[in-house]
Amino acid sequence: MPGFEVFGKAEREQVNEVLETGILMRYGFDGPRAGRWKALELEEALQKELSVTHVQLTSSGTAALTVALSCLGVGVGDEVLCPTFTFVASFEAILSVGAIPILVDVDETLCMNAKAAEQQITKKTKVIMPVHMCGAMADLERLKALCEKYNLYLLEDACQAIGGSYRGKPLGTHGDVGVFSFDFVKTITCGEGGALVTHQQKIKIKADAFHDHGHDHLGKNRGLDRPLFLGLNFRISELHAAVGLAQLRKLKSIVNQQRKNKKILKNALKKIPGLSFRKILDPKGDNAGFLTLIFPDRITAQRAFEVMNKTGLDHCYYWFEHRWHYLRSWEHLFELKSLNLLPKPTYEKWKEENKRDFSSSDSIMERTLSVLIKINWSPQEVESMAQTLKLIVTKSLENVKIQKHSPTP
Ligand SMILES: *Cc1c(COP(=O)(O)O)cnc(C)c1O
Repeated sequence: MPGFEVFGKAEREQVNEVLETGILMRYGFDGPRAGRWKALELEEALQKELSVTHVQLTSSGTAALTVALSCLGVGVGDEVLCPTFTFVASFEAILSVGAIPILVDVDETLCMNAKAAEQQITKKTKVIMPVHMCGAMADLERLKALCEKYNLYLLEDACQAIGGSYRGKPLGTHGDVGVFSFDFVKTITCGEGGALVTHQQKIKIKADAFHDHGHDHLGKNRGLDRPLFLGLNFRISELHAAVGLAQLRKLKSIVNQQRKNKKILKNALKKIPGLSFRKILDPKGDNAGFLTLIFPDRITAQRAFEVMNKTGLDHCYYWFEHRWHYLRSWEHLFELKSLNLLPKPTYEKWKEENKRDFSSSDSIMERTLSVLIKINWSPQEVESMAQTLKLIVTKSLENVKIQKHSPTP
């Protein structure tokens, strides 16, 4: 998944073009910037890459989520559905606009389960925000149908899934708004950065203004711009956009390499009795950032994870105990431990949220391990990795009584 593995000459050249003029800001300074508009150029390149009509770059993926929610008019008392397995940015962004995060169970897709989502819909629900975790898709067909049925917005968090698609259409472009992250450990990186994409011009106009203090960006003189409404600063810098430009040109080769490496690992593990894999609804659209293994029970998964760690496979993840990705470690959310006072409806709703049962998510996540797919592995390294994993998984499954787990409906 990490684009930083291929940081090199092209990125340095792009950054140097910005350093030559010293114009590090994306707006204004038309003369001195000598025709260099890296943020604009990256937005156009993303537009083409994703076949989407509008792109708004931001300073991070979290910022893009915040801008997206604001553009959809989400505020105090509104409820936004997000999955139990995600990154903390999901609920951070929702809380930051005054809204209420409502957690929804995940299933074998490792993404939001549509049936569980429907059970959480109330009169206050405004947005369904699936997260395409680890490079592959949520059940967009069913989630989209839910949005239509209940008149809700669909906001796709595709921060981990650039290069992935569902039924031939890029992830992030199926709903009202999609969001990407280009932080340092994502498929492609800007160092820090993010993007919001949409087919709707009215959303783009709002995003363009909101992420830059409300500026209407209509005139030539930034100082004379008028504020469309209250905004904030979530701008990307030219330096970051320059890195992103070089990285985006490598996206195809990064994803191809991930797919090749993942296939080798998966083939080695395919026939091990008792081991299954994450359900991928459209295998062709997997960006292959991770290979995800599902064990028959928690003990076996933990045992395998321990051995992986001891063996030096430091790019394996047991999400169930991961501080930043799974609800079991989110005491700060469950206690609403914030620096400032949150809106009253949030405290009220979370009294109920705190009592909810998430055993359905637990029953998947406690058995799940992911292997991060690197792009710079040599063919020998991939092969040896495959054999090591095979050995560890086979050993951990010895003497395990294999129960059949019925999939969540
Ligand atoms: C990385 C990530 C984000 C946030 O992106 P940043 O650029 O780090 O702010 C949001 N959601 C998911 C699923 C992510 O993986």
